[in-house]
Amino acid sequence: MIISFDLDDLLIPGVKTFSTERRNLFQKLLGIEAIRLGTVALFRRLQREGHHIYIYTTSFRSPMRIRLMFLSYQISVKKIINQRLHNEVLREQRNRTSKYPPAFNIDIHIDDSLGVRIEGERYNFATVIIDENDSAWQGTIIEAIRSCNR
Ligand SMILES: [Mg+2]
Repeated sequence: MIISFDLDDLLIPGVKTFSTERRNLFQKLLGIEAIRLGTVALFRRLQREGHHIYIYTTSFRSPMRIRLMFLSYQISVKKIINQRLHNEVLREQRNRTSKYPPAFNIDIHIDDSLGVRIEGERYNFATVIIDENDSAWQGTIIEAIRSCNR
């Protein structure tokens, strides 16, 4: 399956806070952002199981910057959709929803936003919404993917 992940407040702390992966000196010097604790193991596991991981963010961070951030943690992502690409692909529909995963053949989208869940219900795409306090968030995602596969 193609699984997309939001960035801000899901994998990168902002308004919401959670424990993050350890950053080495190199990452700190380069100003690489901290990512949620467990992201590395989760991405590796999903990829080992044959899933493709996309990033789908409403931020304008460049795909190169996002790619390098994950590479610095020794994980890779297959495709990055930022606000710019979303606007390019969705055109007149770009403001209808903040995200529209079906436009990128995404099977399931992981986010922290309840608004995205509502969009998914309205426009018929699958979401998993992760709470900042969900300490077993990787399990929540794996379980949701499993039941989506059935
Ligand atoms: Mg978010």
